[in-house]
Amino acid sequence: MNNKDYVIKAVDEEAQVRIWIADTTNLTKEAKARHKASGLSAAVLGKVLTAAVMMASDLKNPEGVLTLKVKGDGAAGMILATADNRGKVRGFVSNPNINGLRAERAAVKTGEIVGTAGILEISKDLGMKQPFSSRVELVSGEIDEDLVYYLKISEQIEAAVMLEVLLGQDMEIMTMGGIIVQSLPQGRLEVFRTIEKNLTRLREMRMNFYKNSGKEILEALTRGLNFEILSALEAKFKCNCHRKRLLGIIGGMSREDLNYSFKDKEEIEVLCNFCNTRYFFTREQIKAYRDSLH
Ligand SMILES: [Zn+2]
Repeated sequence: MNNKDYVIKAVDEEAQVRIWIADTTNLTKEAKARHKASGLSAAVLGKVLTAAVMMASDLKNPEGVLTLKVKGDGAAGMILATADNRGKVRGFVSNPNINGLRAERAAVKTGEIVGTAGILEISKDLGMKQPFSSRVELVSGEIDEDLVYYLKISEQIEAAVMLEVLLGQDMEIMTMGGIIVQSLPQGRLEVFRTIEKNLTRLREMRMNFYKNSGKEILEALTRGLNFEILSALEAKFKCNCHRKRLLGIIGGMSREDLNYSFKDKEEIEVLCNFCNTRYFFTREQIKAYRDSLH
């Protein structure tokens, strides 16, 4: 299916239990292509991108940025994603070349790739002086379980999280999606528990983002309960790097550093880690930029 990626958010009638559902299949495919990543590397990156874009949709400030960082002792190294509240997300995994065996069409387990000794950290930069930042130790490296633990410890929120990625035989991304259910501290825990149970059943039914729409998934999750969709966003892999900003950074380098960078080279190369785009700058371009400042 070639539907657009989305993040939908729903709440119960008392606004105590909140649900996010995201289909991030296309943006995970795009991340895989941009980073020339293997299926397993893309799967773990997809989980982090998906969690970030759902969590960021709750930021109040449109200029705000949420950063989700996972760093364990497994082969993946660091996985980092940043997202805003309009469905834009970007990210990378430090090792895009993880290979290994896996069961066909089974949900990808990422614990072994991520490792279990390490941290999950979330920072929210809301455009104020100090960004908020909090971290927990990893629980399993499956990201969803780690996020449940993070929400409990750092935000005192009872949560259930599902991040599920399916790879095809050719190691291409077939489907990637996520669900987060949160109960506010004074929330109705029985409603939360019912949805938590439905979430487990959803996995068993193999209800997934490949076959089912967000609305169908929401209905299956909240059967018999009164939930309303609050917002729906289109989700996209989008980086905000651009040539001009990078030129500003390079233009600010000292003469010595520039000479060093240009040693035996006509151009210097700057790589954006988030989207793997390469930018090239010549001495003349840097000089012209510097002259333009006067
Ligand atoms: Zn970029």
